Order: sequence, then structure tokens, then C-alpha cells
Amino acid sequence: MKTEYWKIDPYAPLEPQLADAASVLAHGGLVAFPTETVYGLGADATDAAAASRIYAAKGRPSDNPLIVHIAHPADAGRYAVTGELYERLSSAFMPGPLTVVMPRRGCIPLSVTGGLDSVGIRCPENRIARTLICLAGVPVAAPSANLSGRPSPTSARHVRADLDGKIDGILDGGDCTVGLESTVVKLCGDRVTVLRPGAVTPEMLREVCPHVTLDAGVTEKLPEGVAPQAPGMKYRHYAPRARVVLIRDAGHGDFDRRAVLFLEQRLREEPAVGILCFDEYGPYLHGKNVMTFGKKQDDAEHARRLFDCLRRFDETDAPEIYAVAGAPDGLGLALYNRMLKAAGYTVLDL
Ligand code: AMP
Ligand code: MG
Repeated sequence: MKTEYWKIDPYAPLEPQLADAASVLAHGGLVAFPTETVYGLGADATDAAAASRIYAAKGRPSDNPLIVHIAHPADAGRYAVTGELYERLSSAFMPGPLTVVMPRRGCIPLSVTGGLDSVGIRCPENRIARTLICLAGVPVAAPSANLSGRPSPTSARHVRADLDGKIDGILDGGDCTVGLESTVVKLCGDRVTVLRPGAVTPEMLREVCPHVTLDAGVTEKLPEGVAPQAPGMKYRHYAPRARVVLIRDAGHGDFDRRAVLFLEQRLREEPAVGILCFDEYGPYLHGKNVMTFGKKQDDAEHARRLFDCLRRFDETDAPEIYAVAGAPDGLGLALYNRMLKAAGYTVLDL
């Protein structure tokens, strides 16, 4: 199949630029589009056949549910059983990088929810995404627009590398501003469980709802046979082809010095080793596959660049990649979660 490519001019009116893509969606086709988190691969969420094309194009396991994207937070009630807690969360964080899992209504087919009786609803903030959903006139089911298992795409170039020839079209709206997938929360009574951390942090959620807990799968490998509440979290994810080792601060003090010494030593033994580290380490680490992804304290910059760096390692001959983790709080928790999964839970405590 030939994949249409639409480059969006952010300074020109959006509607005419999105009309063709919206029509493809309304007629059961697949369109990749930018959001503030990552690029999504969209299809009509009320059309079971369209949704199944998403799974086929991505090679996604059929039990991994799709998030349903809406143009206005108030539309959620058509597709899910909302309540007072949804109202509170949506007025605080929507439009924005938050997905809320609630009981599903019948117009959303089971093939969209991976067979579950719940559905994840999100209203993206990105102008292109919201205008596209409005014009299509349907809710848009969209997982990240990557091949299953690969790092999520944060630019149209990433989408093209994975899905060219497999989908109807790609809207190029530039780089994603957040760079990590949405926070996924599940509501139960007056309780919020974070199934996947993102840019809406547990600290932010606690300002709106007193009962916020983290699903165990966020920071730990679950024991064999225990399924995480978000089915997608059980798969190896965000992973470049080479083995990744996460370097973590064990709290012995002087972490940066220990990390730099360790990495210098590894570079002496194996000059092609891949390293993903903070800008501050750059002057000490000389190797062709050393990448820096922002200053140590700048989680937002790490978030924007993480997936692009993981993809770029695939274009190198790095036999192994060491990735340095920052503190797992605030947005850092989401980064830590993605890096831990990219590493398949292989951690070196220094
Ligand atoms: P993706 O859109 O590729 O970032 O993946 C969507 C994520 O949201 C996956 O981890 C899913 O498991 C999770 N998710 C979506 N809908 C639900 C649901 N109804 N219940 C639990 N998790 C969900
Ligand atoms: Mg994904």
C-alpha cells in the first residue's frame, strides 16, 4: 500500500490540511498523527474492522487494548461510564497527557479494548490531533504508531521507519513536546491507580484526588504468572536491538563519579559500547556511541529525547548499551519506567 505523507504547516489554517486524513479515518483507514506525548496510529474506534487493521499493521498482540481519543473531555460519557472522579481529573488535566480507564459502553467494540470491559479515554492537547478527531467525527482508537516492541515514535520520521507501506497516511506535525506516552490511570470508587506513569505525575494527581496508588508493575518486574493491570505493560517495550543495562543510583553517595568511572572503564574494554548519559558526563566519556540526552536535572529534556536516542542506537554497531537513570520522582518516574522496560529489567546498582 502507498502511504500518503502530509506535512502540516502550523501557521496555515489546519482544517483544509487535515481534510483528507480525516476522511480516511471516517472511512475505516489508518492514519498516524502527532500528539503531545508520542505519534498515534489512529482508526475509527467504533469500527471493529478498522481497529483490527491497527493490530495487524503494528504486529500488536490482540489482548493489548487501544486508547480511545476524543476531541472534548465531555465526550467521554458516550464511550465510557464516567463519574464525579472523572469530572475532577478531566477538569484538572484534560486536554493533556492523561488516559483514564473506566467501564466501557457498548459502542466501543471488544476488539478495541483487547477483550476488556473497560476502556481507556484520552483527550490530547495537540491542536492537530484534536482538529483531526473533530473533523473525522468519530472517536479515534490509537496506540503508539510504532511496530510493536520498538521505541514509541516522537517524530514522523520514526513512524515512517516503522510503518511506511503498511498504513494509509502519516501526518507530520513535527516533534512531540512531551515525548513519553500518556499517564494511564484506572478509577475505582474514589481511588486512582496509576497503571503507567507519564507527564501527569502521581504528585499532580494527589492534588486532585487523595487516594492515588501505583500499580506494582510500574517500578518492578511482576512475578511469573501475575498479570499487570495494564496489559500493555507486560510486553518488552521501548527496546533497541542491542542489550540495554540500566545504571541506577544505589544511594551510596557520589553516584555521578562512580558512574563516570565505571563507564570510562567499559569504554576502554569495548570502545563501541553504547552509552546514554547526562550532558555533564559528556566531557569525560569519549566513544563513538556515546549519546547525551540533557542536563542531569532536566527530566523534560530527557523525556523528549529518550526514544529518539534509543532508536539511533539501532543505527550504530553498539554491542551493548548502558543507560544512566535519574531519580524516579515526578516526570523522572515515567522515564525510569520506560528505561527499565527498555533494559528488560537488567539493572546495575552503583
Ligand atoms: P499505547 O497506546 O501503545 O501506548 O498503549 C496503551 C496502554 O494503555 C497499554 O499499556 C494498555 O495496556 C493501556 N490500556 C489501554 N486501555 C486499557 C484498559 N482498558 N485497561 C487497562 N489498560 C489499558
Ligand atoms: Mg505503544
